[in-house]
Amino acid sequence: MTSIATQIDTVVARIRSSCIQSNRNPEGVKLLAVSKRFNSDAVEQAFAHGQRAFGENYVQEGVEKIQALSALPIEWHFIGPIQSNKTKDISHHFSWVHTVERQKIAQRLNDQRPSDMPPLNVLLQVNISNDPAKSGILVEQINELAQFIDQQPNLILRGLMTIPAAEQTEAELNNDFLTMYSAFTQLQQQYATCDTLSMGMSGDLEQAIANGSTLVRVGTAIFGQRTN
Ligand SMILES: *Cc1c(COP(=O)(O)O)cnc(C)c1O
Repeated sequence: MTSIATQIDTVVARIRSSCIQSNRNPEGVKLLAVSKRFNSDAVEQAFAHGQRAFGENYVQEGVEKIQALSALPIEWHFIGPIQSNKTKDISHHFSWVHTVERQKIAQRLNDQRPSDMPPLNVLLQVNISNDPAKSGILVEQINELAQFIDQQPNLILRGLMTIPAAEQTEAELNNDFLTMYSAFTQLQQQYATCDTLSMGMSGDLEQAIANGSTLVRVGTAIFGQRTN
């Protein structure tokens, strides 16, 4: 087996044991392989081992891989910051976007989504630690943006995403994840389309799953350290 295949098995085992510890069904947590800064060879190796969902942070780099691998049935997620001049490429090539935080961007993604493609799946990025270095809306702003997205015909509101602040104690991290889970369950009561809480990465997926994450975004633990 390649090292990527071995590392996917290790991550899948971590997800499974976290689910079992929290009395959750392992089917309820999806693994998104974050392939940013790795080439399409690495993606193909992961695909050959059964991985189907991949996340990219940089539009140009992502579109190149999507085009190179267009023969494979891969589900592509955009998880990086969104600039207005990149919404067209995102709406034309990806099936999910995790990082929507402004109406203007949501409007452009909706308007530019090609009519022959299914609606774009949207997660709102929440700045749960109120970290000035991080993007995202505050919990109090979720309702307004959710309502806007729900009205767009070419977007489907699927849930929330967060990246907690880096330097936190275990208790602070758990608290952030729990606050996200509570915001997510409230949103689900209003929008039947919401089924995804994107939280947890290589270093904190156990805590995220214990607090209700339904999708973990894992880069380093699958592909190795990014060197550029
Ligand atoms: C890079 C990145 C990840 C993956 O982080 P790792 O620590 O390498 O697992 C997850 N989410 C986002 C938004 C990222 O930019």
